[in-house]
Amino acid sequence: MIIVMKPGASGESISQVTQAIETSGLVVHLSQGKEVTIIGVVGDKTKLDTRSIQLNPSVEKIVPITESYKLSNRKFHPLPSGFPVKNTVIGPGTMTIMAGPCAVETEEQMLSIARAVKKAGATMLRGGAFKPRTSPYSFQGLEEEGLRFLKTASEETGLATICEVTSAHAIELAEHYVDMLQVGARNMQNFELLKEVGKSGLPVLLKRGLSATIEEWLNAAEYIMSEGNEKVALCERGIRTFETATRNTLDLSAICVLKEKTHLPVIVDPSHATGVRHYVEPLAKAAVACGADGLMIEVHNDPAKALSDGPQSLNFPQFESVMSNLSGYITLAGRQLS
Ligand code: PEP
Ligand code: MN
Repeated sequence: MIIVMKPGASGESISQVTQAIETSGLVVHLSQGKEVTIIGVVGDKTKLDTRSIQLNPSVEKIVPITESYKLSNRKFHPLPSGFPVKNTVIGPGTMTIMAGPCAVETEEQMLSIARAVKKAGATMLRGGAFKPRTSPYSFQGLEEEGLRFLKTASEETGLATICEVTSAHAIELAEHYVDMLQVGARNMQNFELLKEVGKSGLPVLLKRGLSATIEEWLNAAEYIMSEGNEKVALCERGIRTFETATRNTLDLSAICVLKEKTHLPVIVDPSHATGVRHYVEPLAKAAVACGADGLMIEVHNDPAKALSDGPQSLNFPQFESVMSNLSGYITLAGRQLS
């Protein structure tokens, strides 16, 4: 439930309410806007004497939250949230561009891609070191060596980095090298992994499962947040439909739905959503127009030779051109590259 305080409620009356909640063994999440304060309550509501709280003259109303996700719920936190990742910020007013190869392959590859995407305006560097491939015979990633190459590229360019983690062991390694963890589509409902990334405290990008509903996705975010890690961004990367012309179907409407249901930032990945490089630009523009807080785009120095996802990867001139063609859309959306 949330307790909405009257506009201008005093600090004293707010702390009366929060104390009543805490002494009943429940957890308080305070959201203080310019005028209105909202007190979110997590825990067993039956332990709380809501009648006496309602009698507090500074309380406007008590609203039950019927959805199973609470901390990620927009009712809990009416303003959009954001958080820093190294030297950049994901969230309101900003446009995060995470660019880089599907898989980290060599040190020179990572350095050349990092330099090129930074020059074109990317704000974060991506690269997979643990690759959850459909076939066990496909390239599985360089693991710790790949993480090292990401870090080297980050040290040279200053770009914050993100890498997918697929196990508790991968998290332990990644924590030493990268600035943000990614949970891939195939692991969106790997609840043990979600708890582990929650415990790590690093910012997390949670990709939407291949066939996950928005509600399942927000509950997955809740698993991470309920471990005390509120630095979560969601990534729409296309869902399974009957359509086979594209690798997946980009659910643009999910951006609008998420903006209503959650305060968490939303990143869109048109590369995995379509699997086709020349669809990346139009869908990136559409995502920005729909309110996305950022984009994830696969870029490779030589897509024809990429060890993973070459057909959807942009080469350097293509990425530069996409970035330059996007800039007017980013401005129009009232955002700035962060
Ligand atoms: C990726 O980002 O490299 C990836 C594997 O994406 P997804 O989990 O969305 O398929
Ligand atoms: Mn990929």
